[in-house]
Amino acid sequence: MDHKAFLDSRRDFLTKISLGASVVVPLITGCTQCDSTVSQNKNTTGLKPVDPVQKREFGLIDEQDSVAQALHYHHEKTQVSEDLQKMKNGKTFSEQFCHNCQFFVPIDEHVEKPVGRCLLLQAGNVKTQGWCASWVPKR
Ligand code: SF4
Repeated sequence: MDHKAFLDSRRDFLTKISLGASVVVPLITGCTQCDSTVSQNKNTTGLKPVDPVQKREFGLIDEQDSVAQALHYHHEKTQVSEDLQKMKNGKTFSEQFCHNCQFFVPIDEHVEKPVGRCLLLQAGNVKTQGWCASWVPKR
């Protein structure tokens, strides 16, 4: 590789890194300018905007949600069909709950709450005593 090719290659590499950083850094820092950008966009529809974060904070997922149905999610384990009640990773079905699943995120670690977030179900919260077919033991 001659010197000019080396410099071009180096410039190309540095440009890609700076472009990547301009995308990744706002994602990591929570995009501090996003709120001001969003608030500048006026809602001209007359409809009340839906806040998906707020919905997740307070709403329990509908068992009829398409993803919840696909994962056979139920708020009450008594609703799970018997053919799905299998041993997984050395845990019997009676030991499997959302609260001890790898995908479960407590809403507030300091307060015991009957619901939490599931990384797989984005449309609402799950019950700590709930269950779905994607259950994996928390590590
Ligand atoms: S993935 Fe885990 S936390 Fe999410 S619904 Fe299924 S069992 Fe509950």
